[in-house]
Amino acid sequence: MRLDYLTIFPDYLAPLGLSLPGRAATRGLVEMHVHDLRDWTHDRHRTVDDTPYGGGAGMVMRPEPWGEALDDLLGPSVGGGAATVVVPSPAGRPLTQALARELATRSRLLFACGRYEGIDQRVIDHARSRPDVEEVVEISLGDYVLNGGEVAALAVTEAVVRLLPGFMGNAASLEEESHEQGLLEYPVYTKPATWRDHEVPPVLLSGNHAAIAAWRHEQAVQRTAERRPDLLHPSHAAGQWQVVPAV
Ligand code: SAM
Repeated sequence: MRLDYLTIFPDYLAPLGLSLPGRAATRGLVEMHVHDLRDWTHDRHRTVDDTPYGGGAGMVMRPEPWGEALDDLLGPSVGGGAATVVVPSPAGRPLTQALARELATRSRLLFACGRYEGIDQRVIDHARSRPDVEEVVEISLGDYVLNGGEVAALAVTEAVVRLLPGFMGNAASLEEESHEQGLLEYPVYTKPATWRDHEVPPVLLSGNHAAIAAWRHEQAVQRTAERRPDLLHPSHAAGQWQVVPAV
């Protein structure tokens, strides 16, 4: 997968070289390129913003540098096929595990990281009409306002890259994670069995795999019901689940 990031703060994306995405790059699963949007400006001050038509507070990102940058980065000379353009926006589609799974199937993602009051809408409309763009997805991290799209681009990258085939040593560990099956994950424990008078639930020490699987499922359902009842499906209701034997 090829990942491109267009931003006016390339340093903000330095963590891409660390931890999970960095490991994916080292293993050849992803190729990441960070670009400074100001490289596509032509004035002495490398201006990327201007006042909004219609008045109002703040500045809007000018369309010209974005247009030229997309022409260069999406053109046929750049490998990886048609790109999915990801535009972080508080008005976008909420980032979910299902959306991360969808994006993990794409061959190219290009992140357009906005600042100020956002990017001139025509950049997004024009990108939607380009034959070298598979889809434009506006994505929101949540119902709050960040200063820029970089943090959202990092979050989407991390959620997507860990789903790429070959990234996780044990793909089964992904299946039980929160949001994979519409449930939050059960609580987890490691050694020692007693710590500061707190015990590990005895069933986890029993060696009975069927009982452990049933306990974990029950805990997952209970947690989801308490914390995120909106996620709960009727088939998850107590007593209706199937015990999946541990492998
Ligand atoms: N004026 C915009 C509005 O009210 O919708 C907010 C602009 S915000 C200050 C600047 C940039 O931060 C946005 O263009 C977007 O790229 C990013 N951003 C802010 N909040 C976000 C969120 N919840 N999810 C994703 N990106 C966000």
